[in-house]
Amino acid sequence: MNAPSSAKQKIEKLRVALRDHDYRYYVLSQPSVSDSEYDQLMNELIALERQYPLLITPDSPSQRVGGEPTKEFPTVTHEVPMLSLSNTYSEDELLNFDRRVKELIGDQQYRFVAELKIDGVAISLIYRNGIFMLGATRGDGTQGDEITNNLKTIRSIPLKAETGKGLPKDFEVRGEIFMTKKDFEAMNKKQEDLGEKTFVNARNTASGTLKLQDSKTVAQRRLRMFTYFLRTNDVKLTSHSENLQLLQKLGFVVNEHVRVCNTIADVKQYCDEWNVKRASLPYDIDGIVVKVDSIAQQQELGSVSKSPRWAIAYKYPAQQMETLLEAITLQVGRTGTITPVAELKPVFVSGSTVSRATLHNQDYINELDIRIGDSVFVEKGGDVIPKVAGVNLKKRAKSTVPFKFPTTCPACRSKIFRPEGEAAYYCENFECPAQVRGRIEHFAHRRAMNIEGLGEAVIDLLVNENLIHNIADIYALQKDRIAALERMGEKSAQNLLDGIEASKALPFSRVLFGLGIRFVGEGVAKLLADHFSDIGKLQSASQDDLIHIEGVGPRIAESVIRFFKDVHSLKLVERLSKSGVQMRAERKKITENPNIYGKTFVLTGGLLSMSREEAKERIESLGGKSVSSVSKKTDFVIVGSDAGSKLQKAIELGVKTISEDEFIRMIE
Ligand code: NAD
Repeated sequence: MNAPSSAKQKIEKLRVALRDHDYRYYVLSQPSVSDSEYDQLMNELIALERQYPLLITPDSPSQRVGGEPTKEFPTVTHEVPMLSLSNTYSEDELLNFDRRVKELIGDQQYRFVAELKIDGVAISLIYRNGIFMLGATRGDGTQGDEITNNLKTIRSIPLKAETGKGLPKDFEVRGEIFMTKKDFEAMNKKQEDLGEKTFVNARNTASGTLKLQDSKTVAQRRLRMFTYFLRTNDVKLTSHSENLQLLQKLGFVVNEHVRVCNTIADVKQYCDEWNVKRASLPYDIDGIVVKVDSIAQQQELGSVSKSPRWAIAYKYPAQQMETLLEAITLQVGRTGTITPVAELKPVFVSGSTVSRATLHNQDYINELDIRIGDSVFVEKGGDVIPKVAGVNLKKRAKSTVPFKFPTTCPACRSKIFRPEGEAAYYCENFECPAQVRGRIEHFAHRRAMNIEGLGEAVIDLLVNENLIHNIADIYALQKDRIAALERMGEKSAQNLLDGIEASKALPFSRVLFGLGIRFVGEGVAKLLADHFSDIGKLQSASQDDLIHIEGVGPRIAESVIRFFKDVHSLKLVERLSKSGVQMRAERKKITENPNIYGKTFVLTGGLLSMSREEAKERIESLGGKSVSSVSKKTDFVIVGSDAGSKLQKAIELGVKTISEDEFIRMIE
């Protein structure tokens, strides 16, 4: 059937949204929607693709497992792909799963194993001769990040497996890395005491921790692992339940609540039981995994695109709690965005007390007709950001009235406006105190100028006492004035000044990010700093100059130009420049090497003599370019150990491949 253009558009829209959510979830570990919302979008996409199969493309999020391997770690190709699980929120689907299994394996007897679905991160561990050799994330299912050193810090992963009769020596183990609720809370308490940013939930923290470069910090985070998969040729594997016993004998931790179920009714009973009991578990689960027990039957059932046919995940819906909406306040962000916030009668939702939740924007409030005084349902997005998901209309009091969005900014009373095509209202007053605070907070943030001692409370104090009005004022602060403030004193004042002084050494890209130009995130700031040698060149860049930079689109270009047209911004930049903040990019010194100069390189797999980062730096310092994907324009692909799909691509495109030794000879 030919697809109407509306279906095409809808599919494309869903793909764009899902890709963005995947990036936030798998790469940044900072999802912005709940898992059930994500799954709903995914189901919509799958349903449309089923209807119009010609529109299915291999890069559709429905065809892919997880995220991409990152560039920070060597890439590992999994010997056997690490698949995802098809998932469902309904009992009917569970029965359908049973029906499909029955149909496919005929008259044989079969049984299931039901396990808790630990809300963590899947990883793979390779053992050779009983020794832990290599550990990797699932990545895109085919290739993941090699994070052996980080995994070695986790105590529940044996560095040497147990040996003995009937135990394999060469094998792969898979399982879930997670953090207990208690460890997560203790870590957050510590962060809070240090005045550092707290983490949102245990899953994202576990996932973010595994991607840290510093194994010492990983060790402090107290990650744990439950294992649920064994692959080996050393011994015959007959059933999943026996494999779990083998894993325990080898020294791995297997979750204690696994249950063998003879029928799907037993499975359902297990799901219902844990739906009630899950809150009392010391770790988060997001559902139940049901697997056919016999390995022979698993093989017979096989898999479809990205998930096996012998397993299914039964997911629990996000927990919703009802409470009173006491008020709606408006929050003004650093760019002037005005976000309505629900002030709630405190209520306990998925592990913590919630008293505020986002209402997104005016359209959202109108759509759900949310009114002050309503009894509302609150849930945590992905157990992350609390939101008001609906209204209990049965409990609505007659006296309530529809919420009217104000016409002036709650912080400075200037008129607010809503640009065409946008959902948010903005305050355009540059001097608005809420924006001023927000901009200073952003500038001082760990990822921007990383000014130690300049957290939210100190910023409030300095702004309230009229000591700073903007980011340039930070560099004019005087010790005696700071020391005289309440709760400050000599020592804190000196620490703050030291923090401010240290920020002057940070590179130009951090300053650019810190300026808070709309749409200029960390990545774009780096691109701009790489392209323009100093702030003057960036200031005079035209729209055309900007959009010629790969990764900079018209929206970003427009925003950069608008920023540098503004007199306030120009003044700030000038003052920052005078105070010694880096306003020019440090040019890397290039020694021209004829083998490398002007050539484009792609690295695949791990190198023995240097890290990938070092290799990249060497290439760039000798005048070459190091890029992440292979194209016809690539001159050389350096092939390390466990090279992946990039090698394949190089062969397909006829791009020259070189070994690590050849590369070293070239750079010498
Ligand atoms: P999944 O989470 O639905 O299930 C597969 C995973 O379950 C496995 O890889 C493994 O990590 C885990 N697992 C936990 N316990 C297990 C056990 N006992 N046995 C086997 N596996 C077990 O699938 P996925 O591919 O990891 O992730 C997709 C899901 O992630 C989506 O359905 C969505 O809920 C969530 N997600 C959310 C967002 C968001 O923005 N909120 C974005 C992307 C993905």
